Amino acid sequence: MGGSYRPAVGGRYFEDINPANGKLVAHIARSDAADLQLAVDQAQDAFRSWSRTTPEARAEILYAIAGGIARRGEEFALAETLDTGKPIAFSRSVDIPRAAANFRFFAAAATQFASEAHEMPGRAINYTLRQPVGIVGCIAPWNLPLYLMSWKIAPALAAGNCVVAKPSEWSPVTAAMLGEVCNEAGLPPGVLSVLQGLGPEIGEAIVDHPEVKAISFTGGTLTGARIASRAAPAFKKTSLELGGKNPCIVFADCDYPRTLREIERLAFSNSGQICLCGSRIFVEQSLYERLAADLVEALAKLQPADPLDPATRLGALISEAHLQKVHGYVERARLEGGNILCGGSRMPGAGAFYPPTLIEGLGPESACNLEEIFGPVATLQPFATEEEALELANHSTYGLAATLWTENLSRAHRMASALQTGIVWVNTWLLRDLRTPFGGVKHSGTGREGGWEAMRFFTEPKNVCINFGPRNA
Ligand code: NAD
Repeated sequence: MGGSYRPAVGGRYFEDINPANGKLVAHIARSDAADLQLAVDQAQDAFRSWSRTTPEARAEILYAIAGGIARRGEEFALAETLDTGKPIAFSRSVDIPRAAANFRFFAAAATQFASEAHEMPGRAINYTLRQPVGIVGCIAPWNLPLYLMSWKIAPALAAGNCVVAKPSEWSPVTAAMLGEVCNEAGLPPGVLSVLQGLGPEIGEAIVDHPEVKAISFTGGTLTGARIASRAAPAFKKTSLELGGKNPCIVFADCDYPRTLREIERLAFSNSGQICLCGSRIFVEQSLYERLAADLVEALAKLQPADPLDPATRLGALISEAHLQKVHGYVERARLEGGNILCGGSRMPGAGAFYPPTLIEGLGPESACNLEEIFGPVATLQPFATEEEALELANHSTYGLAATLWTENLSRAHRMASALQTGIVWVNTWLLRDLRTPFGGVKHSGTGREGGWEAMRFFTEPKNVCINFGPRNA
């Protein structure tokens, strides 16, 4: 905060634990409304000049931040893995490079974001200014900590806002390191403050503060609903990226080897702890037995191991409490008559390790098919026709991302158009072009991130109409 690290005003700390071994990583300052007030005061001062810097000057700083992350990539990757238990290979190849890429992308966006002008011939010219909102709150989850936080901070800064950022209490370290990188990159003090602490304390304080004009939130659907209800009376802008229960629809005419390989990735990357992971796998009847058998065989080789080993593909879950929640769903599936094809109980030994778990034989109303588990658990269900696949896929309160696996182009377009999700991937997963809109429908959220969507969210349009017609007209 204000370009330096400081303890919380209340002098309190919380523990940051490595879920792979239960060991303490760090004591982290536990901030509350008093710390926020300091950050807001500094942000108000900083905003006066930051909001008036040129896009080029802001871009230069954002490029320098990206460079700083990339230079310290190994340090960042290690911190992400110690905090979350995710494989170091994943932190190295996904989390940290994508965080740097976010800053690079929005550095370029800052210089390209243009005003619009509309002429009323012979009468007037309208032009629309896009002005920064002011102080904005960015609240992020633990599953892709720096990656998702940078996805908010970078466009907010690019658009000329000051930011109060709150990382998850389960993954606080990389956001703290980002503060250091920002200082080195020349970001003026007060433009970004990272406030560590608990959701109901500092998170809610950010949402409630009258000087925080917009909230960009990624996290659970229930938290999102709470934030929306608190922000609404003050008419704050909110962008809410929430949970998912994503369908993966496999047709018999798919490119089978590729589909099999990709299902393993889309269902179990980061131990299923990605909002975009497919957790309901629908397979055309004629392919069902073969795919189920091959998937079980493949998953036998995908077992959790030491996250610090570069060869590890599956690490620990975020916490013991989360493991218990995940396992609770598997137990419910057993009671509901589900057949556990593989996995289904925690790994022996210390650490929050849970194997890939596939369940078949559950109806669409079972908890495992309706609720977000956010762990390495997926259900398999056969379908007979395209219409049935669509009905099953859309039978969800969530609507984030769907994947389709087919070589039939017409079918792919038909299904993509009819699926009730914000994102559809055809024969791929997690392929991201940062210019495209990102977000969900239904209980998966409101608003979109990415590209101009993010730049629009973090700016207020102001229309100026200049009458140039004759005086007596
Ligand atoms: P969470 O909702 O518990 O917490 C997210 C963040 O909100 C944390 O920083 C937390 O401290 C804070 N928070 C908690 N209560 C708050 C409150 N009352 N007011 C303000 N802030 C509060 O979510 P999580 O467990 O950290 O993350 C997992 C969830 O995030 C899953 O549901 C997942 O699907 C979702 N997610 C969504 C996306 C997306 O883009 N749609 C991406 C990643 C994760």
